[in-house]
Amino acid sequence: MAHGQWIAGRAGEGSSGEKLDVTNPANGRTVASVTLADASDVDTAVSAAAAAFAEWSRVPPVVRSEALLALADRMRARADEYAQVESEQAGKPIRLATGFDVPGSIDNALFFAGAARQLQGSAAAEWDGDHTSTIRREPVGVIGSIAPWNYPLQMAMWKMLPAVAAGNTIVLKPSELTPLTSLMLAEDATAAGLPDGVFNVLTGTGPEVGEALVAHPTVRMVSFTGSTKVGHRVAEVATASLKRAHLELGGKAPFLVFDDADLDAAIQGAVAGALINTGQDCTAATRAYVHRSLFDDFVAGVATVMDKVVLGDTSSPDTDLGPLISVAQRDKVAGMVQRAVAAGATVACGGSAPEDLPEGSFYRPTLITDAAQDSEIVQEEIFGPVLVALPFDSDDEGLRLANDTPYGLAASAWTMDVVRAHRASREIEAGCVWINDHIPIVSEMPHGGYKQSGIGKDMSLYSFEEYTQIKHVSMDITGTARKEWHRTIFSNPG
Ligand code: NAD
Repeated sequence: MAHGQWIAGRAGEGSSGEKLDVTNPANGRTVASVTLADASDVDTAVSAAAAAFAEWSRVPPVVRSEALLALADRMRARADEYAQVESEQAGKPIRLATGFDVPGSIDNALFFAGAARQLQGSAAAEWDGDHTSTIRREPVGVIGSIAPWNYPLQMAMWKMLPAVAAGNTIVLKPSELTPLTSLMLAEDATAAGLPDGVFNVLTGTGPEVGEALVAHPTVRMVSFTGSTKVGHRVAEVATASLKRAHLELGGKAPFLVFDDADLDAAIQGAVAGALINTGQDCTAATRAYVHRSLFDDFVAGVATVMDKVVLGDTSSPDTDLGPLISVAQRDKVAGMVQRAVAAGATVACGGSAPEDLPEGSFYRPTLITDAAQDSEIVQEEIFGPVLVALPFDSDDEGLRLANDTPYGLAASAWTMDVVRAHRASREIEAGCVWINDHIPIVSEMPHGGYKQSGIGKDMSLYSFEEYTQIKHVSMDITGTARKEWHRTIFSNPG
């Protein structure tokens, strides 16, 4: 596996002269050491991507499709290795990496291999009688992509696949904490037939390499996934050079349990939705609003299930919950819980790091009650295994509270009443609303936020379209030198 940059189809060292250890947060052991890029590597990678664009943007879509199908085959052949490296660099339980991250990524490759052959526009027509209009969908150019650490492989795929399927070329900067599966992917993409320079990977820090990529004059579009705070900075830098900015940002998903809900399903769904990826999921259930008539039973049920969740060795198929990505992230989560308690909230279960796992950045599944709606723990993204439960008394109140944060990425509503389900789907301001479930995603459907959760969609044909630009071609069909419309400019054409 490459342990540095992947530029123009080859592995290379970063120019910074610095190395960064990738650490397994479950046990503190070094997984690999990666050389870091600097701003000069950004220039080299962007030049490679620009050079590759001329040919890649013109090859027949079937050629792009076949390369992505071959990539899916290569990934399938190395699925266990991908899962192991993903698990080690991100501290994911192997069951999650094997059952979700890797198969989801391969399915994405298959979807965009199909999408590559589905570029469509409206029918040609003579709107004014004298010109035939057609629409061309064309690739944008070199895409600068920046990804977070929570789903390193899936995020790399969500960035790379629609971009290259539509004929763009890309420079991807994965999180400096989790670059390894992006480098494996680059290797496999090249071996699968993506020409040199179509997919480049830079390992480096956000402020140095990420920002240089966003600012680079040759980069035509920026595709960023990460926190809302950094997203604002990326938007600012991209706007300064008038780049298209696709932003997938933070979330604070509400989980709305109406009084007719299947309580057992809601309890199971809340624990799974809150704890997926140790809560480090932008769509994770974080705020459970539960009708007062069910509230106590819901809290007792969630606490009981959370207490049974198994933390520990992420390489064991028996482990349910991994660590946070780092000690700093674990301390951030612990700090938020402590401040919530100091402000009057109650810890219904969890609320501390497990004492028997000191070598990893673990935190116990945690349920908080009695928090105020306007408190930090209800309003801010936690990104840890923490669910806050609050009661509500009417549908109107529940829906209002669900919308009462700056975020709008995802939400769920739990009810057996079709009218309530439809009303919640309409009223909740979020890019995705699940009914009687929370989390499942599919390659065919879009993922992206409302409000401060971002601009644009990942996955699906909606994402594919974002990596294209639309050109109107208008062709005169009169064949005349003196066009009728010229009279509006000069009245007596000679
Ligand atoms: P982050 O914002 O700290 O970093 C994301 C990426 O941006 C990293 O690669 C980082 O190196 C880079 N970066 C940092 N500063 C930069 C700068 N000034 N210019 C350019 N790039 C810079 O986020 P994170 O902690 O890696 O990931 C967690 C966040 O990602 C959470 O907020 C989560 O909700 C969000 N997320 C959103 C989605 C989504 O689809 N909406 C998916 C996954 C994660």
